[in-house]
Amino acid sequence: MVAQVVVDVIHSNVAKPFSYLIPEGMQPVVGSRVNVPLGRRTVDGFVVGLMEESQLPPELPPEKLKPISKMLDEYPALLPAMLDLAKEIAAETHCPLSEALRLMLPAAMRTGRIKQKQETVAVLACPDAEAEAAKLKRAPKRAMLLRLLADGRPRSISELSQLVQNPREGLKALEEAGLVKLMQREVFRSPYGEDDEKPSTQPPLTEGQQEALDSMLPAMEEGKGAFLLHGVTGSGKTEVYLAMASRALAMGKGAIILVPEIALTPQMVRWFRSRFGPATAVLHSRLSDGQRYDEWRRIRLGDARIVVGARSAIFAPVENLGLIVIDEEHEQTYLSDKHPRYDARRVAHSRCKREGATLVLSSATPSILSFAMARRGDYTLVEMPKRVADRPLPTVSIVDMRKELEAGNRSIFSALLIQKLRECLDSGQQAMLFLNRRGFHTFVSCRSCGYVVKCDACDVSMTLHRNPDHPEMDELRCHLCGATRKPPETCPECDSKYIRFFGSGTQRVEEEMHKLFPGVPTVRMDIDTTKGRDAHAKLLDDFGQGRAKVLIGTQMIAKGLDFPNVTLVGVVAADMTLNLPDYRARERTFQLLTQVAGRAGRAQTPGQVVVQTYKPEDPCILTAAAQDYRAFFEMEFSRRRTGLYPPFTLLARLLMESETELEAKQMCDRLYDTVQTYLLSHPAQKRRTLMVRADAAPVKRIRGQYRYHVLFKLFDHPDVSPLLSLMSELTSLSDEHCRIYCEVNPATMM
Ligand code: ADP
Ligand code: ZN
Ligand code: ZN
Repeated sequence: MVAQVVVDVIHSNVAKPFSYLIPEGMQPVVGSRVNVPLGRRTVDGFVVGLMEESQLPPELPPEKLKPISKMLDEYPALLPAMLDLAKEIAAETHCPLSEALRLMLPAAMRTGRIKQKQETVAVLACPDAEAEAAKLKRAPKRAMLLRLLADGRPRSISELSQLVQNPREGLKALEEAGLVKLMQREVFRSPYGEDDEKPSTQPPLTEGQQEALDSMLPAMEEGKGAFLLHGVTGSGKTEVYLAMASRALAMGKGAIILVPEIALTPQMVRWFRSRFGPATAVLHSRLSDGQRYDEWRRIRLGDARIVVGARSAIFAPVENLGLIVIDEEHEQTYLSDKHPRYDARRVAHSRCKREGATLVLSSATPSILSFAMARRGDYTLVEMPKRVADRPLPTVSIVDMRKELEAGNRSIFSALLIQKLRECLDSGQQAMLFLNRRGFHTFVSCRSCGYVVKCDACDVSMTLHRNPDHPEMDELRCHLCGATRKPPETCPECDSKYIRFFGSGTQRVEEEMHKLFPGVPTVRMDIDTTKGRDAHAKLLDDFGQGRAKVLIGTQMIAKGLDFPNVTLVGVVAADMTLNLPDYRARERTFQLLTQVAGRAGRAQTPGQVVVQTYKPEDPCILTAAAQDYRAFFEMEFSRRRTGLYPPFTLLARLLMESETELEAKQMCDRLYDTVQTYLLSHPAQKRRTLMVRADAAPVKRIRGQYRYHVLFKLFDHPDVSPLLSLMSELTSLSDEHCRIYCEVNPATMM
């Protein structure tokens, strides 16, 4: 027999599968990981096909083939469905198959750095432990060990040593006497704390929840269905996911629940572990290598049937999949920001179709794209328009910050927000303050000459981060590459002393808060405070347990979190996202505002929201304040139609990155010319092309790489696929001086 093997090496020379002989006695299947010789090296690879020697093409006689060196795992690492999925991703995102295959396994498994962990367990080997123990009067410790093992359950040495001091010797003796057997057993490194969740049961469902389930469960029983669940914040969507997962389990199937951000996994995991115990696994990139490897294997071996995780958990090796839920489906975090740039929602859709599972995209503020698809009939729309227990939606007040300034208030908090904060804290409730920027001041500039401190490696201004305990350690940080430097005392350009700091970030909100409300404990949640492995869970716990009264944060705290004691939400600067140079800026603003507002008043006390803005009349802000999704959708959808933006068009680009500006620019011009020539001779595609433009990217340099792009605006029509293929082919002109990427409707075009 001959195996087709894709080697785990990313290079265009080895993108195609190679043929290897299968040695006598080896039984690889499609999906097995193997070691194969490649040139003078040995590399890892995946078996992607099997054939008889007689099927080999004549130019490839079997005696020319080398044999597979060895098999790597005791079970095939890839399920057949996952191999097909990898092929599809490779085709759709224009990346080599080996790169798509890497998505399917924990990195630690590929690098081989992580080994399975073993422990010694003792198990009873005689029929009557009590009778044997009674004979051991002189050895009370051994008798005790026997009694502990009497129920026949294997117990690890570490477990036994909590009950009996130094059990090893006694166990050895018992083993020699043939009363106990010692064996090696695999342990799974667990990401869960010692005390797992207290079991919970399903509460009586609300009418809205029941109706939603009635429309979705029948489809799941038939192994089909794609739904868009549009439920207002606090309508109890999580309970719907739990009920669906429970039914999937009862059907002998598995489920994947995706949340948009690692910060939201602890809360979701808590819900699922309390309902389903160890049948729930968690997968995200903040787990240690060992934990990730072990959770992955618990899933692969079928011990865990339910997976909760962030984006990459969409590749969890759940066999016999029944359900995928994508919570907060509108979040752009579902688009991968690394190559291959897959969209977890598309991957989910394709997995569900292929594996006969039901897809539930869920949000209080569905993306324009998904809602439009639901209207077109691609998804079935299911709505939950009411909050649990008929709790009212929060009341929203809009504050015009221009008027605050006129009234002489230069603080970042309006008078109304301060008043509401006071009332909230006085009555023992909690508040959340939201600002979509971290750091203290967001840029530093010279009043005399206008110089702005920028990162040396990136074309962006640097943000001041204060060190409250050591002011001499204040630093400027680049939010793109992480570079730091000392804040200048005089202008590096003109030597003027009028160097000033502008703009506010979450650190500044925290400081103002402490000035206004001394002694009120707060927690801040942004990328800076959540670097450690358990940092998220710890901060959220401080707030959840009431040790902190105010949670200050970036968009991380905007969504999903459910803290019943929060009655006030303050949006410090609503315009920040509105002013981004992106056609989705309005959609993002609406989503953010609705989501943050939705954090308030989730229990008995009604919630209040204060939105501070310089554009109080903007329809985006008004519809968000009214929490009127339909009105926003209609407005935005027709604006996209007139402005020819997605979903009516495709935005795509070829992006060049090079250390030298000239090389990036030259490559950009060259590709632009190629495309123009192509369009001249292909009128059908020229007709579908609204715009082609060569330009420097909006952020011209990141991490020392100059960036140029050829931008395309195309009608979303099957006719343009040859042009997209051409774009994808052009990426092979990449060389060591200039890398080229093809991106279609990417998360950002910066
Ligand atoms: P959403 O995700 O739709 O914003 P959640 O799923 O977080 O809403 O639910 C909001 C709150 O309502 C949570 O505190 C949850 O425990 C509670 N809840 C949900 N369903 C029920 C129910 N059937 N009975 C009582 N409380 C419920
Ligand atoms: Zn200056
Ligand atoms: Zn930088």
